[in-house]
Amino acid sequence: MARYRDSVCRQCRREGQKLYLKSDRCYSDKCAIGRREYAPGQHGQRRKKVSEYGLQLREKQKTRRIYGVLEKQFRKYFAEAERQKGITGDNLLRLLEKRLDNVVFRLGFAGSRVEARQLVLHGHFKVNGRKVNIPSFLVRLGDEITVKDTSKSSVKFKEIAEAAAHKTPPAWLEADVENFTGKVIALPQREDIDVPVEDHLIVELYSR
Ligand code: SF4
Repeated sequence: MARYRDSVCRQCRREGQKLYLKSDRCYSDKCAIGRREYAPGQHGQRRKKVSEYGLQLREKQKTRRIYGVLEKQFRKYFAEAERQKGITGDNLLRLLEKRLDNVVFRLGFAGSRVEARQLVLHGHFKVNGRKVNIPSFLVRLGDEITVKDTSKSSVKFKEIAEAAAHKTPPAWLEADVENFTGKVIALPQREDIDVPVEDHLIVELYSR
């Protein structure tokens, strides 16, 4: 399966802002944004006039990077968002939010979406009692997400529980950190989604 293998911090530098792709490091002074505030690569420090297309492209790339989705899959989400009723940009973000790796991150059971993806892939989570190791699995209203019993006692999940105690999940999710349980109590609305994305630019890009 294709995946991004380069330094994740380069992705933030390319977008010129923190995308919070790592966990603790993003909140420390080791973060590459601030230390090297220019795009990576040979021409990264050149000043460039950004075209309208460039702006739209960057917004799409940023969104993909935040959610850790490759181009082909992102296109599929967009096609699905267009098919659905309502505003396409809102639909797109709602679809991305419902991904299991994002839900695990939002519940506080991982420090970043990258870590959440890894934990899901390693089979640490169940949805409605059944093991799900597919990060792109889309949760539905009423779904219950739990950590596998054998994983709960691991050092890793003890650390996660300590960190999760200080986090608040969004309004559409309910988390019980002590029991490593989360529930989808509503479907995500645009106002619940705090990612710094101007989704209309993505719609404009794909409408060209
Ligand atoms: Fe981005 Fe986090 Fe790396 Fe900073 S530390 S550049 S926020 S991934």
